[in-house]
Amino acid sequence: MDSRTAAHALNEIAALLELHGDNKFKTRAYRQAAKSVLALDADDLAPLARAGALATLKGVGPATLAVLEDLVATGDSEYLELLREKTPEGLIEMLRVPGLGTAKIHLIHQGLGIETLHELEEAARDGRLATLPRFGAKTAEKVLKGIAFLKETGALVLYPHASAEAGRLLAGVRRHPDVLHAELAGSVRRRREVIRDVDVVAACRAHPASVAASFAHAPGVRDIVGGGSRSVTVRYVDGTLLDLHCVRPGEFAVALWRATGSAEHVAAVGAHAASRGFTIEGDELRDAAGRPVELPDEPALYAALGLAFVPPELREGRGEVEAAAAHRLPDLVDAEDIRGVLHCHSNYSDGASTIAEMAEAARSRGWRYLGVSDHSQSAFYAGGLTRDAILRQHDEIDEVNAALAASGFRVLKGIEADILPCGRVDYDAEVLDRFDYVIGSIHSRFGMGEAQMTERVLKALGDPHLTILGHPTGRLLLTREPYAIDMTAVIARAGEVGAAIELNADPHRLDLDWRLCRQAKEANVMVEIGPDAHSTHGLDNVEIGVGIARKGWLERGDVLNARGADDVLAFARARRARA
Ligand SMILES: [Zn+2]
Ligand SMILES: [Zn+2]
Repeated sequence: MDSRTAAHALNEIAALLELHGDNKFKTRAYRQAAKSVLALDADDLAPLARAGALATLKGVGPATLAVLEDLVATGDSEYLELLREKTPEGLIEMLRVPGLGTAKIHLIHQGLGIETLHELEEAARDGRLATLPRFGAKTAEKVLKGIAFLKETGALVLYPHASAEAGRLLAGVRRHPDVLHAELAGSVRRRREVIRDVDVVAACRAHPASVAASFAHAPGVRDIVGGGSRSVTVRYVDGTLLDLHCVRPGEFAVALWRATGSAEHVAAVGAHAASRGFTIEGDELRDAAGRPVELPDEPALYAALGLAFVPPELREGRGEVEAAAAHRLPDLVDAEDIRGVLHCHSNYSDGASTIAEMAEAARSRGWRYLGVSDHSQSAFYAGGLTRDAILRQHDEIDEVNAALAASGFRVLKGIEADILPCGRVDYDAEVLDRFDYVIGSIHSRFGMGEAQMTERVLKALGDPHLTILGHPTGRLLLTREPYAIDMTAVIARAGEVGAAIELNADPHRLDLDWRLCRQAKEANVMVEIGPDAHSTHGLDNVEIGVGIARKGWLERGDVLNARGADDVLAFARARRARA
């Protein structure tokens, strides 16, 4: 029993228990145990079991231990089998419909006897779903949308999930005795916001096709598609997909470039190569005389074609090959360019950490300032701050700053103020004037029509207190579509009034979309990369946001929090002065 298969079994038990309405602590124990097991190397489970050390894994208690021992001893879990028998498979599928939790699925099953996604869709259409207690027509409508969304997005996952998975898969490929070296390619390397599968390119000492085929017997693999060729799709028991490209060492550079994509970028480079008399055949570059060109690595490929090296994030077929030919690629912003963060929550609203803890965590990441931007009074559901709470918070920030004075680190006084449905920014001017800067965000009435929503945001941008427009389209990747809004008009207005727009770095949001970052840059709009951290751990979002900013062609000078604290304060003041 490999660790991936075991973790998958534990997660499945958790999901099934939830569907049967079992208690939360029990299901959480199974999920935690699954996480610990997945973190092990593929073959580490059996030795741990033999040493009697399974119970030392984080989250493993008596019940999960019994399941693990069963899995290691028999390759199966009797308990899981029992749960499977009493659960219709369609119920498990329903868990992937956005907005449908285990509790609701439980009700649907109990109340209407529905057991498949198809039956659920029918019940939502013919009105039966709306008759259930706590459901109604609106919920039925949402369920229909959710099913459509699920059909469209299929097996997509968010970047951090895919990136962690990719690291494990790459390590597995590198352990193969016939693999000399291997690298990540595909959309993970290009840092796309959602990912379908993981691409790995491996240079092999043995015959590439036989190395590829040997993965059919690797731990946790269900099957491989395309056996007999050098590129195979490896399907793991938990649905994870790995596109594995096995090549000879001399082909590695071209193979890595090709597998990184995108298809549009590969086509554009191919056309550029042809215009210079080169051809790219298979995983080989040939010159005008048809002789193969030796390429030690990927940068050598671009150099051979007279192109500047194109960073993987830019390879989306959006003019980067022309720019590389003219040696006018942007000098992309880097994680090291970030000087501080401005979108963070503390325990004053819905954050988990104190201001001092957040400040310390920011300082330890090498940043020079942290802006606290808790929720405003209208966001009562998220513990929005009353005027009194703001005054208390500002006193506390002054104290933290006094304690940190010697270090040069600063805590700034910000707020994430709701943009109300009428377009007003929460709080009156007397309160807003107390902040160093204001992030204005929409957290309510997402269903407005485009004209009304655009008007709402344009009006908010007319308030000189608003320094930064927060998560400007409200999307939640794979869960909620952006609200209807004319972003071209919004970006143009932000440029006119000197407001910044946020690239919210929460991996569920990544909003502003990278495709619009360039539009913002061209309109002279500064972009703030905001972690939207609700704990110290959430500060790590910045690195993901920087990847998206790079996809959007942004340079250091385009990013507000790549400036020092004094410059950020001056930016907010200048904006107010323009009123
Ligand atoms: Zn927000
Ligand atoms: Zn926030």
